[in-house]
Amino acid sequence: MAYKIKESTCVGCLACRDECPNQAISETNFVMSIDPTKCTECIGFFADPQCLSICPIPRTIQINPDVPRFQAAV
Ligand code: SF4
Ligand code: SF4
Repeated sequence: MAYKIKESTCVGCLACRDECPNQAISETNFVMSIDPTKCTECIGFFADPQCLSICPIPRTIQINPDVPRFQAAV
């Protein structure tokens, strides 16, 4: 899985973007989005998803159920 950003509650503070170790978070026309092909759920970098940890708005960053669970290379 990857994470995704709920547009309706995101305030565009950009805090999450700079925390992502994979540069998966971007802003286009004031809309934030997470590239599911880049998001590793922070596996391999941190114990917790950094975007979720820093986001000040509850339930704005959520699991993206449309994407398979990330598999770390072994
Ligand atoms: S969970 Fe981690 S890798 Fe995925 S978008 Fe958030 S900060 Fe980036
Ligand atoms: S930290 Fe949360 S509120 Fe701020 S841009 Fe990211 S998703 Fe939006």
